[in-house]
Amino acid sequence: MTAKIISGREVAEHILENELSKKVEELKGKNIIPNLVVILVGEMKASASYVAQKEKFAAKAGIKSEVRRFNSEISENEILSEIDKINDDSLIHGVIVQLPLPDHISVAKVLNRIHPSKDVDGFTPNNVGKLFLGEDTLVSCTPKGIMQMLRISGTDLNGKNVTVIGRSNIVGKPVSILCQSENATVTMCHSRTKDLNHKLSDADVIIVAVGVPKFISGDQIPEGAVVIDVGIHNIDGKLCGDVDFDSAKEKASAITPVPGGVGPMTVCALIENTIIAAERINSAWEDSNFWPLASEANALSNWATGAKKDSN
Ligand code: NAD
Repeated sequence: MTAKIISGREVAEHILENELSKKVEELKGKNIIPNLVVILVGEMKASASYVAQKEKFAAKAGIKSEVRRFNSEISENEILSEIDKINDDSLIHGVIVQLPLPDHISVAKVLNRIHPSKDVDGFTPNNVGKLFLGEDTLVSCTPKGIMQMLRISGTDLNGKNVTVIGRSNIVGKPVSILCQSENATVTMCHSRTKDLNHKLSDADVIIVAVGVPKFISGDQIPEGAVVIDVGIHNIDGKLCGDVDFDSAKEKASAITPVPGGVGPMTVCALIENTIIAAERINSAWEDSNFWPLASEANALSNWATGAKKDSN
């Protein structure tokens, strides 16, 4: 069997140019321009290139985006007060902090300072909690992009076995919840899982987010499974994923490529979340029941920084 390729790049372009740009036009008709701010600290080459892709996609959908750059010497307090300013600015609808941050800045403290209504990465405890409870929320971008790819490839998860490899807070855990909410039976694997091959043997869908180049190969994939490769690695100038694409495509019925798979869908989901945030913030203003709860964001931040657990 040679797998169908699920092109995230093509799907993302289609969604941006057809669906999202239409929504943006409607909002512009009401004098609302969805506005995303990206906070970039330091000079990491990979971060700069991810940020450039976000700006490109924002332009395609017609939303406003701004990158606020800070040098790596900036203090934690200065970043926190920048986020407070953004939380209080009614013309900004979404904010993300590009990771990684320098070691002297607490990622948990910074992310949890973002007001949940502007948390377009879906990383705050409020939004993660709602996701786990099955409530409507800003869903984190990579899991959201993966679910869109599965839908577009015609993969119905109802009653299917999904094996997720990797339990990170940004990919493995949330995508496993989303698959369960579509009635899949989910097996979560991680660095201490015994007999990974056995856990893969009856999988209809395999989602790999491990961070090890070509970690999964064709001989571990059951004939006809759908394979979603989240990993991205630059090996001697050539990009590859967590799956050995060449051997996997001979066993899978459908597979995402790297590059051009999950990556573009993640950025597309970020743009969509910014548009959703703009719609919700403005309808909340219209109900005039809303305000920027900087104090609420501070309380969440204090709570979350006390609760960091080993996710490896
Ligand atoms: P992470 O590094 O936070 O966690 C890796 C996970 O893999 C851990 O939960 C660990 O338990 C598991 N793991 C490690 N070794 C294992 C083993 N031998 N067997 C089974 N499980 C094992 O992961 P992450 O942040 O989810 O990132 C994973 C990969 O996906 C990275 O390559 C990252 O760059 C990439 N990524 C890509 C996108 C995108 O938009 N394309 C988004 C997020 C992450």
